[in-house]
Amino acid sequence: MVLDRPWSLEAHDVHEPVAGPDEVVVEVSACGICRTDLQIVSGDLPARKSRLVPGHQVVGRRVDTGERVGVAWLHSACGHCEYCLSGRENLCELAAFTGWTVDGGYAERLVARQGFVFPIPDRFDDLDAAPLLCAGIIGYRSLRLSGIREGQRLGLFGFGSSAHLAIQGGSNGGLLMGAAFTQRPDLFRAVVCQVPLLDMLRYQHFQIAKLWIPEYGTADDAAQFKFIHAYSPYHHVKPGTLYPAILFMTAESDTRVDPLHALKMAALLQTQASNGDDRPILLRVDSKAGHGVGKPITKLVDDAVDVWSFLFSQLGVKI
Ligand SMILES: [Zn+2]
Ligand SMILES: [Zn+2]
Repeated sequence: MVLDRPWSLEAHDVHEPVAGPDEVVVEVSACGICRTDLQIVSGDLPARKSRLVPGHQVVGRRVDTGERVGVAWLHSACGHCEYCLSGRENLCELAAFTGWTVDGGYAERLVARQGFVFPIPDRFDDLDAAPLLCAGIIGYRSLRLSGIREGQRLGLFGFGSSAHLAIQGGSNGGLLMGAAFTQRPDLFRAVVCQVPLLDMLRYQHFQIAKLWIPEYGTADDAAQFKFIHAYSPYHHVKPGTLYPAILFMTAESDTRVDPLHALKMAALLQTQASNGDDRPILLRVDSKAGHGVGKPITKLVDDAVDVWSFLFSQLGVKI
């Protein structure tokens, strides 16, 4: 696939790639799609060469040895500068990048630098290994550089590709989920939205919600209507949009956030979203539970089983 100008990605025959000194030719078997690739194709990140072949999550076989290898974003670095000598070659001023400054993996073959191809362990198949060549490397590098010790936790933020990201939130966090997936449905693959507020124009009329008017405001006030309507998730479902797979969870006896929010949002999305069977909009209603405070352990286990089953099935996690 060759990119000549923004949005012009097309299949073309190109010259057979030839390896120079310290280079290898790799026969490509899989190449993931990263957000950076989309930015290059759309011109957000201007291509650094003409007739560029994008793609930097490459798995293939070396033509010379037959070894299965991965090729990542960093194509090469100078090897001599302060950054290269301190293990930070990603900051090297002379660095070249696969699928941006040199041709990448949306091709039958590509040329990579000998020292920048990685053997791929047998336990990963080609498709599972490809995304690890970008987000996997970033995560592993962060883990190594963090100096984390046994028993400590490491948080990685703003990381990974949208096809592998899930978000989860409940109550006010459920409202945050609704705002996130209605404003940017492209950023997530799966959403768990628990006991949420979603219709912010009418929330104050149900259960105890009028107590929250000082916090959220009320749409009955013309000035406040404007900013509440601007983010109210229920009012921003766009027909024909592809949304992430969503699991709404609510409970019949929720006396804090009325179940109506989850019920009508699920109904609206089920009729309006362009999602196929592979991205279901699910509604789980617990008939003998409330908002969630003080839930017995058996119910917490039931909830967790459904949440993790949903997320694993949607994100392709194998256990
Ligand atoms: Zn990437
Ligand atoms: Zn350097």
